[in-house]
Amino acid sequence: MSDSKARFFLPPDDYEILRFGGESVKDEEKGIKRIMKYYHDSGLTEEQLRENNKKYNLEQMLQIVKEYFGREYGYRGEGIVLSNRYQRSVNSYIFLEDEREQFVHIDELFESSIMAFFLIIFKWSKEFDNLEVYGNCFTYLLFIMNDVSILGDIPNEKSNEMLLQIMDGDAQVMNLASSCYWTVVIFSLAHEVAHSYFASIGKKFPNRKKEEFKADAVAYDIVLKIIIDCSRKGEENRIIEDYAYLAPVMYMQYFDLFYYTDRVLYNRMIRTNTHPLPKERICHLFAIANDDKYDFDTENGNHLYAGFLDAYDEYRTQLLMKKERGKLDKIIRTEKREQRGRKDE
Ligand SMILES: [Zn+2]
Repeated sequence: MSDSKARFFLPPDDYEILRFGGESVKDEEKGIKRIMKYYHDSGLTEEQLRENNKKYNLEQMLQIVKEYFGREYGYRGEGIVLSNRYQRSVNSYIFLEDEREQFVHIDELFESSIMAFFLIIFKWSKEFDNLEVYGNCFTYLLFIMNDVSILGDIPNEKSNEMLLQIMDGDAQVMNLASSCYWTVVIFSLAHEVAHSYFASIGKKFPNRKKEEFKADAVAYDIVLKIIIDCSRKGEENRIIEDYAYLAPVMYMQYFDLFYYTDRVLYNRMIRTNTHPLPKERICHLFAIANDDKYDFDTENGNHLYAGFLDAYDEYRTQLLMKKERGKLDKIIRTEKREQRGRKDE
């Protein structure tokens, strides 16, 4: 009884439950059990989940990226290994010391926040007129932005459970989100490998921004080539789907929401000379996606993106309005924000 109440009702006070992560929650067995609890009616089986985990994991994706790099750019990135520890950052990066010491870092925080981001925003856009879903999705998205992305807390068991309650066994949204998530993983890995590739051929850039744009371009090229190859294969053998082709753009918009939330809640402005702003990166990515040399079906992807934008815009409007009315005062943790700010400088 209390369970079904929790499932359909998330008062603002329950924001407390979502907060205070801190421990690593990555546990495949637990994850499978948790998902099955909410998805048993959707036809999803434990076996499928296990199969999925074998097909989709960071190591596997890095192999695919290296394979495509070899084929498209003649660079195999053999020395590059993965690092996946929890370092309280949603950013990925590559550590380049010399030819032998290279690792790509994809934080555990990245995994939980980006997957949750896609789940929530697609659920919201799908059931935009359902007030309960609307309210829950706003609250959860705010949690992903504030506690997870800005303050660096990893979602705990309770918040993962809450996420699945909001999903309410929706298999369609789960598929859309996971497809977009793995597309972003490939994009991020390829972006980092691109930096290593530039170093290997001694390519010099006039400034750091130019290099970032170029790394994005190479990464997106690889993503789109994988999508085109996959669209010729049967569903079983596809790695990513054509409808996820704008996932890298949505990923940049995740950062845009992150910085926007930081500005509204903490008056923080992002200042950087080395990295382009998400908006600039988005423009460049669109230009690539629209290039005629990539020929695949974009209709479903455009439809998904239009829905994404509805929820995206709504979040921005609501956030500002609630802040102005003082409704967000209790979730603002200025002290913690300042500690993190100092560390970043
Ligand atoms: Zn970069």
